[in-house]
Parts: sequence; structure tokens; C-alpha cells
Amino acid sequence: MIIVSACLLGLNTKYDGTTNAQALIQKYSSSGKFIPVCPEQLGGLPTPRSPMEIVNGTGKDVLLGRCAVQGEQGEVVTSKFVLGAKEVFKIVEMVKVTAAILKERSPSCGVNHIYDGSFSHHLRAGQGVTAAILKEHNVPVYSEVELSEERILKLLRDDEGH
Ligand code: SF4
Repeated sequence: MIIVSACLLGLNTKYDGTTNAQALIQKYSSSGKFIPVCPEQLGGLPTPRSPMEIVNGTGKDVLLGRCAVQGEQGEVVTSKFVLGAKEVFKIVEMVKVTAAILKERSPSCGVNHIYDGSFSHHLRAGQGVTAAILKEHNVPVYSEVELSEERILKLLRDDEGH
């Protein structure tokens, strides 16, 4: 099975109550291989919610307790992000997950880049909290921006073999 950020599949889980639907990913939703997850909702955050960013670090730093996740007004939501990541990892423990396709730049799902905590649309290299927990447990993680149709088909073929 392949974990996919729910907003990429067209679910309205994004902070503003909308979606980040990606036609290329949605095209393969009928494969029956995708598990849609929204770590921020699984962590108990409401939708809509404030925009949130990791401040002074990355998802890995959050998991190590070295930095916080905050909302735009300064509210600290670190525990919700850690809980959401752990809930997603519970799914990895329940079923055979061969890969994850996650939304780039999100403080939960970002794979290569996240916003830098200044709430000014600046990016930093690093992963979101859920991407970090999956990588820590050797789940191959891809972002929607690096996925070609060929790569999605390969992920589906590889998953078929399990
Ligand atoms: Fe999408 Fe992940 Fe944000 Fe949920 S936490 S809305 S799945 S990017």
C-alpha cells in the first residue's frame, strides 16, 4: 500500500479547507493501492486551521524535541504534529506500506523543503514531521513535485510485488 497526503487526492484537508488535488495522482486513485492520510487532522487539528510552520528547524528536529511548530499567531502546536506523525506511523505498522507520496513544503508532509518558520513564503531544506518519521523508519518518501507518471507506475508495480 502507498500512503498519500489526503489533500493531493482531492480531499479538503488543507489548512484553509481546500485541497491540493493533483490530477496525475488522482488518476491512479482507483488502483486501490492508496491510503489517504492527513497527519494534521489525525493529530487533532481542526479544518480550517491557521497556517503553521516549523520554527528554527525541521521535522527531524521537532521529533527530537529541539524546536516547535507554531501557528501564524504564535500558538504552539508541536504536540499535535508529533501525534499526527505517530498516527500515520501506526498505519505503517498495520499494513505493508511500500512508499509514501507527500505534499511538498508542508510542515507535516514536506519531503525536500518546508517553509522556514518566518511565515513569509521562504523555504528551507528539510522534511516535515510526518515525512521525517517515515524516513526514519525507512519508508521511501516522494513529493508530488518529483513524481512523473512513470515513477507512479513503478511505485504501483513495486507495491504489487508485496
Ligand atoms: Fe495535506 Fe499533509 Fe497538510 Fe494534511 S497535513 S493538508 S495531508 S499537506
